Amino acid sequence: MTLTEIMQTLPYGPAPEAAKPALDWIKAHKARFQLFIAGRWRAPASREWFATINPANGQKLAEVALADATDVDKAVKAARKAFTDWSQTKGHVRARYLYAIARQIQKHARLFTVLETLDNGKPIRETRDIDIPLVARHFYYHAGWAQLMESELAGYAPLGVVGQIIPWNFPLLMLAWKVAPALAMGNTVVLKPAEYTPLTALLFAEICQNIGLPPGVVNIITGDGKTGAALVEHPGVDKIAFTGSTEVGRIIRKATAGSGKKLSLELGGKSPFVVFEDADLDSAVEGVVDAIWFNQGQVCCAGSRLLVQEGIAEKMYAKLRARMEKLRVGDPLDKAVDLGAIIAPAQLEKIQQLVQKGVEEGAKLWQPSWAVPAEGCFYPPTLFTEVAPASTIAQEEIFGPVLAALTFRTPEEAVRLANNTRYGLAASIWSEDINLALDVATQIKAGTVWINSTNLFDAASGFGGYRESGFGREGGREGLWEYVKKIEVHRTAQGQKPRARGLTARASAESLPPIDRTAKLFIGGKQVRPDSGYSKAVYTPDGRLVGEVGLGNRKDICNAVEAARGAFEGWRKTTAHNKAQVLYFLAENLSQRAEEFARRLSEQTGQDGGAEVEAALEALFTAAAWADKYEGLVHPTPLRNVTLAIPEPIGVMGILCPDDQPLLALAHLAGTALVMGNTLVVVPSPLAPLSATDFYQVLETSDVPAGTFNIVTGEREELALTLAEHDDVDAVWYAGPRAGWALVERASAGNMKRTWTLPPSGPLPDTQEVLRQATQVKNIWVPYGA
Ligand code: ADP
Repeated sequence: MTLTEIMQTLPYGPAPEAAKPALDWIKAHKARFQLFIAGRWRAPASREWFATINPANGQKLAEVALADATDVDKAVKAARKAFTDWSQTKGHVRARYLYAIARQIQKHARLFTVLETLDNGKPIRETRDIDIPLVARHFYYHAGWAQLMESELAGYAPLGVVGQIIPWNFPLLMLAWKVAPALAMGNTVVLKPAEYTPLTALLFAEICQNIGLPPGVVNIITGDGKTGAALVEHPGVDKIAFTGSTEVGRIIRKATAGSGKKLSLELGGKSPFVVFEDADLDSAVEGVVDAIWFNQGQVCCAGSRLLVQEGIAEKMYAKLRARMEKLRVGDPLDKAVDLGAIIAPAQLEKIQQLVQKGVEEGAKLWQPSWAVPAEGCFYPPTLFTEVAPASTIAQEEIFGPVLAALTFRTPEEAVRLANNTRYGLAASIWSEDINLALDVATQIKAGTVWINSTNLFDAASGFGGYRESGFGREGGREGLWEYVKKIEVHRTAQGQKPRARGLTARASAESLPPIDRTAKLFIGGKQVRPDSGYSKAVYTPDGRLVGEVGLGNRKDICNAVEAARGAFEGWRKTTAHNKAQVLYFLAENLSQRAEEFARRLSEQTGQDGGAEVEAALEALFTAAAWADKYEGLVHPTPLRNVTLAIPEPIGVMGILCPDDQPLLALAHLAGTALVMGNTLVVVPSPLAPLSATDFYQVLETSDVPAGTFNIVTGEREELALTLAEHDDVDAVWYAGPRAGWALVERASAGNMKRTWTLPPSGPLPDTQEVLRQATQVKNIWVPYGA
């Protein structure tokens, strides 16, 4: 083959991922897994086991325990016992556990990825790029809600023991959707994975053990439908969260009726994928690939009904067939494969029967010319055209790679067809006309509508159905309500007292010799000498010299502002998730040096340094938690439109910290301002600046981008004035004496920058106020109307 030929054909070669690490993990457990109850592995009372199979080759991977009603009872009791402490554990502590889980998932991402693909048969590209990263994301996101529960869900309490039953199509992701919010809100759980795919849940149980999650907080019991039914019926369960078929959902609804158990159900779907004639067809074709061939179409919100406007139908089908011809079905561990294996022979048979039915009912079948592998459970991507709206394949959920295409003429007809189903999980709308797209979006009965996109998921967005697709939401703020109840007024707050803080300052100031360090300034991610060449002495409250800091001047402030301005655009565009990560990592690095910081603080302030370090860590966690949760609003403006009110960063900010609580003020004020997307020039406490200069090293070892967080030590009033006068500074927060307030406010008039003045000492402002001060709202109006 010549180079030109290679370039013209670009043939794929297989790129298989090694199965060995996952197989070794299974082997290390002698290919037999017990039940995870009260933090320990236990043999099932039933003494029964069942096999889990790799659908891509039919080989047995391992045996897992089949829990019966006695095992369920043990697990529920373990969860109940754990609930007493867990429900009273401070949100910050729960946040740390959830954070640790997220980190563990990331650290063992490859193992989870391969194991999931072996057990489920979905392409490794999906487990690697979608399932497992989203799992980590869910735990990070909900670590934030654990942190914020006390303030954001004040007056609400956890429910108790939650029974969770999940399907096989996204085994670990469905676990995350359920376990993360439940734990964040202080519940304990008994989770039953699907019988086809128990392995990643068992690896997850190991992670819970490794991070020292208190025994009984998470219990994993493997089993079948009977195990699930026993869990649903157990009187010690306060809530059931179920994802699976509408048929089983209905059984559960009946079984729990009148029991007082809270219930959320995420069930089936027959989601429409609507393409208007002005749509970008090539994008729409890629959308279809994602909508119906993602996970072999075994997705509850799969876009399984293609509704295409008559005028472009043939063109769209031609493009689609050409694309289908190029899809690759095969070994799920091969990174070049688009579709993997169907979960099990029974499911394959169901798909085959429904396809047969489609042919019998008169629809036109098309499949690519190539054959799927003979060994293992595979089915080719399939397109039906000329499908009648009332036919079986247009109404029944196939849960396979089969697309049923129908045509429509007008938007009204599209809406009617889209809603012509008992389901209402999701919809996808394709049009270059936003008026039309949004108009149709408001009329389709579905919990999620994607415009010119499909199958987008995120922990911050709620997911759930209308009609027979179930009720309740998972993800977002709205998902939390599924796991809490309002505290009854007459109940006492007994036992709600926060736990004592773990850390205390160890050595007293007197027992330590003064440490002489060369504290410079921190500008553009580097420690730099002050322009003036002068230093300023720092004393203890009783007058001993403890160190010196650089005396910054106008030139240093200008350099810092320049660095902050340079870093702003990049930081602003960084995703909220990544901003949170930066803060979490900063906290992690600070906590590593907690004792050193505690000593330094005690020395400078004469106060309990350990408590302040803990408070600062908590403040950083709170800031991180808010990164992806300080949401905008949709205003009900009186026209036909959506008006999106979006908080945006202000820009470059000068922050002059108060005298006391030097580290906490830095973490709380600067941490929050930073996480909202601002870049900073911070002037630390004039009385106790050494903790801020020690902080340089924490900043250097973290991922805080250079220039986003600059620190200039020196005379507060002088530096405040320079910042307030600077035309490239967008806001100044000044904590200091009254005289300074007037100075800053007056000087700020130059470019009408925003100012916020605070007293020099005393309690710091609450987070909500800091968030508001750190942002400004932009209203975006999006009109609609066909
Ligand atoms: P799918 O079609 O996705 O397999 P199912 O609804 O059959 O969906 O299964 C989803 C989950 O519900 C699985 O974990 C299964 O074991 C469990 N399950 C099945 N039947 C029952 C039942 N009667 N009560 C509770 N759980 C059940």
